[in-house]
Amino acid sequence: VTDVRFGSPDRDWSTLDTPALLVDEVTLVENIEAMASRARELGLALRPHVKTHKCVEIARLQIAHGAEGLTVATIGEAEVFASAGFTDLFIAYPVRAQGAKAQRLKDLAAAVALRVGVDSSSSAELLADCLRGTSASLLIEVDSGGSRSGVRTPKEALAVAHGAGDLPVIGVFTHGGHSYREPGQGPAVGAEEGIAVRRVAAALRRGGYPMSVLSTGSTPTAGHAAAGVTEIRPGTYVFNDRLQVGLGSCEIDRVALVVAATVVSRGVDHVVLDAGAKTLSKDLPGVLDGYGAIVGRDRLRIERLYDHHAVVTGPVAELPGLGEVLAVVPNHVCPVVDLDTELVLVPADPEAGIVRWTVDAHSRSR
Ligand code: PLP
Repeated sequence: VTDVRFGSPDRDWSTLDTPALLVDEVTLVENIEAMASRARELGLALRPHVKTHKCVEIARLQIAHGAEGLTVATIGEAEVFASAGFTDLFIAYPVRAQGAKAQRLKDLAAAVALRVGVDSSSSAELLADCLRGTSASLLIEVDSGGSRSGVRTPKEALAVAHGAGDLPVIGVFTHGGHSYREPGQGPAVGAEEGIAVRRVAAALRRGGYPMSVLSTGSTPTAGHAAAGVTEIRPGTYVFNDRLQVGLGSCEIDRVALVVAATVVSRGVDHVVLDAGAKTLSKDLPGVLDGYGAIVGRDRLRIERLYDHHAVVTGPVAELPGLGEVLAVVPNHVCPVVDLDTELVLVPADPEAGIVRWTVDAHSRSR
């Protein structure tokens, strides 16, 4: 891993307060532009999932480049983006409108154009009770092979739509999470996503529900959306990460975020970085070895993580010295961003100073 840009090589990182999340502005904007033009070429609406960056500034960039609205995973994320002025939000999650969530959903629906995911008739009934009379609408989640949430058959989908009563059901959505199981699955899983949503939407249309939205997407499948799909919802593409590179969904030079970490201790055969599990997360996908890749140090391995320690091993002569600041490409960037409160933006202009962006929706898991 040597091809990761994070600003001018002359920049002095020793003054950085680590661990810190460094975002390369050039790569970030290029990633946003590339996905927006891919969606345009394919004639698809782009509704990026903002759970990856959770940052209002980055969502503004996505909208400025043509995204039609935003996707979120939780009501809490939706609240943050609604109060920042975003008006078109899709909670792509099987929401249970119970407890405090019912009133929060009502308040959101009064403020923005709200779409809500649902995959059971019982949840559809709760959503109908809570959102009846608002401008909110529902999308039924379909399981396209990931075996997570979503209906599996058109019959189940019809039962969900029936549960929604007079609350409009405007479409279907799926997330082909099985594109993450092994490298190179993007095209095949993109096709499966298309088949799954088309099949269920056709049955719903026959049942009298006009389906205007067929929404699919993940970063590996986003460029391979199938015919009939109207919208894609990739999230990770803004930053990419070691897993996307490992899966073959991007090249290493598309990674826009690295974790800057300082060597704080040296043992006989290892060193310790100050980025532990509370920074890198313990995400360890099967296709990867170690808890992140250290830029320019391919023979070093992040072997173990504690809350605030990362134990790095490798050839002793290549171990970095105390105080050195290293850049780590995280395995899975989404939880890494969620664990911090700010992004340190390395501007395109090497003369310009560093800018800090807040992770506005960090830890909004409910
Ligand atoms: N849509 C849903 C429902 C998701 O769960 C996710 C990610 O988990 C996405 C879209 C975005 O996928 P990715 O992170 O691969 O870009």
